[in-house]
Amino acid sequence: MQDRARIEEQDRLAALDRYDILDTPQEEAFDRITRLTRRIFDMPMSTITLIDGHRQWFKSRSGVEACETPKGPSLCDLARREARALVIPDTWADDRFAQNPFVVGSPNIRFYAGVPLRTPDGHSIGTLCAMDTRPRPFPETAVESLADLSHIVMSELALRRVAMTDGLTGALSRRAFREECGRTLALALRHRHALSCIMLDLDHFKAINDRHGHPVGDRVLAAVAEACRSELRASDAFGRMGGEEFAVLLPYTDLDAAMTVAGKLRAAVARLRIPAPLGVLSLSASFGVAALEASVGHLDGLLENADAALYAAKAEGRDRCAAWQPAPAPEQPMRRRVLKAGQISFNGGRSVLDCTVRSLSETEAGLRIDSTAGVPETFKLAIGADRFSRLCRVVQKSEGRLDVVFV
Ligand code: GH3
Ligand code: MG
Ligand code: MG
Repeated sequence: MQDRARIEEQDRLAALDRYDILDTPQEEAFDRITRLTRRIFDMPMSTITLIDGHRQWFKSRSGVEACETPKGPSLCDLARREARALVIPDTWADDRFAQNPFVVGSPNIRFYAGVPLRTPDGHSIGTLCAMDTRPRPFPETAVESLADLSHIVMSELALRRVAMTDGLTGALSRRAFREECGRTLALALRHRHALSCIMLDLDHFKAINDRHGHPVGDRVLAAVAEACRSELRASDAFGRMGGEEFAVLLPYTDLDAAMTVAGKLRAAVARLRIPAPLGVLSLSASFGVAALEASVGHLDGLLENADAALYAAKAEGRDRCAAWQPAPAPEQPMRRRVLKAGQISFNGGRSVLDCTVRSLSETEAGLRIDSTAGVPETFKLAIGADRFSRLCRVVQKSEGRLDVVFV
């Protein structure tokens, strides 16, 4: 019996977690409902209360100061366990509540009416309640109205979820993922903590659709999303970026750790066996991993790098993980500052001009000259002291200055 209660509570919290609503900012859609509740019943207080493992947290509160309180003495925690409603016309007259800290102290609840907020699969995640500091009756019709309002709360929660998640896979929509990433990225930059992104794309998914049909393809997508989510932490964001392409954002995770996570995801996808009319099918995916670098201070850079790594994983043969590596900086010949006397000659050696060589490398030089007028695009440069003579091509010319490469 104990075990059953524990499992039920676990499932309830998982259901609450799927709404991803705890500790989110105030929202007008919910505040409107608590305001309306107060007005309809002429009460000074109303809250939309969500109950997690240790506290009751108010998604909306009207006439109530605190934004959360401990679960222990919570009247809402009792109300949410009721089949229909908990109505306490006078808390002082009820032995269960007369000594309750919220009754004897702030907010001095004398009257309470709460109805459960129930998910479509039957989990009670909290309540909508109305409270007063005076005792009062609450007729059956009022309970019905409060229940109606609680259904509006649940519809709002469902709408909020639909807008944020992809219906087929339950992953965040592309837009919601980007919003979530924007917030996480700003925190990572401000607090200088590691942050990585994994981009994944199913291999040869078109062939699965072609052979098994689109509905089976859809089931594969849902199964892949489920398999990935089961490997990720609650703090990781998981989004569907396109048809068969997903992305994961991993806060507090550097490149090495993100590669380990990608490896686990790859194995989880490879382990999948999906029964279909034409036979059990298995599949693979390719993964690109990138970490937030000093050079990538914005979201698009991070996603692009993960995407480039994904492309590399595909090119290397699929069913693998690749990390984004910054392209090695092109070998820049280092020019030394020098001060050397030189001569440039052209016209088959008939024209010779003095110059000063101010910088020099294996492949190029910077020259100063009285006037660049009449100097052709190519000429010979000689540095007598170095016994140096090379054919040059002008890459930049400005008054008195010539930048050349050796040809
Ligand atoms: P690659 O290994 O190069 O990624 O090959 P691929 O076949 O996976 O890549 P491609 O981009 O050519 O094909 C992706 C396919 O995904 C094409 C499209 O029909 C299918 N697809 C996109 N969205 C959905 C969806 O929601 N459901 C189903 N069943 N298929 C989808
Ligand atoms: Mg694709
Ligand atoms: Mg693909």
